Amino acid sequence: MNFYELAERALALEKEGKKVIRLNIGDTGLPTPSCAIEAAAKSMREKKAKYVSSAGIPELREAVAAKEGCSVENVVVGPGSKALLYGLFTVLAEKGDKIVFPSPYWPAYEMTCKQLGLLQVNVAGKVEDNWEFGELPLDGAKVFLLCNPLNPTSSVYPRELVERCIEESADAGVHMVLDEAYKDLAFSEIPRYGGEIVRVRSFSKEFNMEGWRLGYIVAPSEIAKKMVSYNQITATCVPEFIQWGGIACLENEGEIVSANREIWKKRANVAGKALRDAGFEFAEPGSGIYVFATHPKITDAWDFALKMLDRGVAVAPGSPFGGYDTFVRICLSQPAEVLEEAIGEMGEALRE
Ligand code: PMP
Repeated sequence: MNFYELAERALALEKEGKKVIRLNIGDTGLPTPSCAIEAAAKSMREKKAKYVSSAGIPELREAVAAKEGCSVENVVVGPGSKALLYGLFTVLAEKGDKIVFPSPYWPAYEMTCKQLGLLQVNVAGKVEDNWEFGELPLDGAKVFLLCNPLNPTSSVYPRELVERCIEESADAGVHMVLDEAYKDLAFSEIPRYGGEIVRVRSFSKEFNMEGWRLGYIVAPSEIAKKMVSYNQITATCVPEFIQWGGIACLENEGEIVSANREIWKKRANVAGKALRDAGFEFAEPGSGIYVFATHPKITDAWDFALKMLDRGVAVAPGSPFGGYDTFVRICLSQPAEVLEEAIGEMGEALRE
């Protein structure tokens, strides 16, 4: 079974009528802002459902360029940041090329490397160092990928570490991709990193728009051009009404994102306490929306996750995040009291 099959199994159990508290997938569980729904509906009523530019509609690209302090040519919109990352791996690397990223990591990176025949090389972070990592194995690499805040740990790398990575990648002639899907959910502000890097952003988590499939990259113009052509031969475009939903969110960004941050902070505090009470250990999350925790009694995370699924709690085993077989990733996608109930059940299972 893989990470996504476990998610399907949790959904199937729920469909059969079993109560499952689903904390396994990175879903915010929060409603999409009404401004996005209204803007998308208005756009649909105006029959804006034709093919549009594969780079994104000009209005969204302009709004993103203003937010990111770049020019419109550097912005490419795509159907979710996952699709954009897949595209970046496709245009930046060729079969057999080396792609470096820290572990633990989001399983989709590994799956993408496998799919494209790329050679994955990891540099391991340590829980006791808040998942910071040492020297980068960039020799002969094509791409260095950094996820900040990091899925699955929700840790935020210190500025000096990110800047060191940018510098080392540039010196080694390696493309650096910064996955910032959770950037504005960090509990203290993350700077806007510059340099010849590609930044990947998503509307899914910051704006609770997971199912809308909207993201963008900010990239040097040569790479942006390649990504436009990648979009042309794959998704064609993101539906226009979705993009108007995104524009509405950017117009109300401060309010939406700060309200979300407060929710994640509160959930992280409640879950953190419940996890400690149940004997789990973890690095304190610095952002929404996960906790990556280990327990002395977990020896096989898949075993534990499947056992918990039988008990009505779905969590992701740490194994597909880079072989963390004593860890589980808990997405804080439920209200505080439900998180307490689910973690209480995990503690109960581990005591038996
Ligand atoms: N990057 C990271 C680190 C993620 O965790 C996710 C979603 N779980 C994505 C990218 C993709 O998000 P989306 O495709 O919904 O924009």
